[in-house]
Amino acid sequence: MSDLTNQSLHEIIEKIKTKKISSLELTNNYIKNIKTAKKLNTFVTTTFEHALEKAKEFDKKPNYEQLLPGIPLAVKDLFCTQDVKTTAGSNILNNFIPSYESTVTKNLWNNGAFLLGKLNCDEFAMGSSNETSFFGNVINPVGDKLVPGGSSGGSSAALAADLTPATIGTDTGGSIRQPASFTGTVGLKPTYGLCSRWGIVAFASSLDQAGPMTKNIIDSAIMLEAMCGFDEKDSTSIKKNKEPYSKNLKDNVKGLKIGIPKEYRVDNMPKEVDELWEKGKKILKDLGAEIINISLPHTKYALPTYYIVAPAEASSNLARYDGVRYGFRSKKDEDLIQMYENTRSEGFGDEVKRRILIGTYVLSSGYYDAYYLKAQKVRQLIKKDFDENFKKVDAILTPSTPSSAFEIGEKTNDPVSMYLNDIFTVPVNLAGLPALSLPAGVDQKGYPLGLQLIGKALDEQKILNIGYAFEKNCGFQSQIKKWWS
Ligand code: GLN
Repeated sequence: MSDLTNQSLHEIIEKIKTKKISSLELTNNYIKNIKTAKKLNTFVTTTFEHALEKAKEFDKKPNYEQLLPGIPLAVKDLFCTQDVKTTAGSNILNNFIPSYESTVTKNLWNNGAFLLGKLNCDEFAMGSSNETSFFGNVINPVGDKLVPGGSSGGSSAALAADLTPATIGTDTGGSIRQPASFTGTVGLKPTYGLCSRWGIVAFASSLDQAGPMTKNIIDSAIMLEAMCGFDEKDSTSIKKNKEPYSKNLKDNVKGLKIGIPKEYRVDNMPKEVDELWEKGKKILKDLGAEIINISLPHTKYALPTYYIVAPAEASSNLARYDGVRYGFRSKKDEDLIQMYENTRSEGFGDEVKRRILIGTYVLSSGYYDAYYLKAQKVRQLIKKDFDENFKKVDAILTPSTPSSAFEIGEKTNDPVSMYLNDIFTVPVNLAGLPALSLPAGVDQKGYPLGLQLIGKALDEQKILNIGYAFEKNCGFQSQIKKWWS
């Protein structure tokens, strides 16, 4: 039986289409890999029987016209999947079985894919290391002491360890791009509204966006095309025609203007990150792009703004978990109020409680104007900075993260240092823009580092094209050895 699981999505699709492998063989290979990778703790739930059934169905009646013909996929456990437990990494949803399917996953299944299992993530997607999950931390395949990033850490680790050919995550403040950067994979956060939020467990509704995590740019284009699209069930969904991103991929950056924002050179940034940024500039310049220095003056306010807006929205979104409507209910329920309180204090983990406290505080009367309203105004200024600069440049190049993957436990007791890891990713969410994290090199320890390409709203094709050219010329090679099996 041939094993193609080390190949990337588009290579596997080609093999399926040319009948070099059946969907069933492929699915069996992934199941074998998943069974031998338990140490990484990437899966919360597996759906092997469902996957094998779907694979057999495909092989009996293949449809090669689909974008994802007969492809098994594991997805972040934040996407509601009909009749399959969906936990959001939380004890409070530990027994929640949705009776509906999220639009994004439904789109994937309508394009020929099927579910292999649900991937671990930070609780309610709050975190940068996957250590806040009720189901335990995930281990980065890059090294047994390293976090895989977060909150889509199960997704990044499963992809990098060949447990799924591609995957999806959600990105509220960096949760697709940062874990991609930590595992040497490609992560794309689309424009806010391009992929439907319907059926995704909500964290901060004005920031949440689903996107693909893949081994390369072509795969990212295929996945984005399959998962995006207008959805009347999401009131912030953008009405526009689907673009054939993969067919339109071009590796030509000649004449494009790439902005380099000076504010992203932060204090104490490791030399290697700076050098990587220089390398990125050089690659694009050598390919004919014009490098232009720009300024995004409100960047320094992005992190504090994010950590007001996101918890405020989270505190409101998480009010629904009261032990009545969803999931877990405390056994200690002497009266109604006690039941609410016990359910929430037993059901939520520390980080989620911290966010609810912050969010409730910044929304409370007396503090609302000083924090929440102020943050909303600053958010507009951050967006305006981008709008102004996009009159001059086609895309913006920055590092994805201020460091490579850190060690498990290293930042657990220091939330501020954990939050600082999001410094380069959160401005994009506040402005609603698309951004791509590309693997671009390794640090001295051999851990992957990523560069971020930020585009204008709905300019996914352009950043994918620049990423495509970059990828061909950067020479990044994953150095992961399968030490866990
Ligand atoms: N790390 C950020 C946070 O904890 C971002 C999370 C996300 O994008 N879901 O809020």
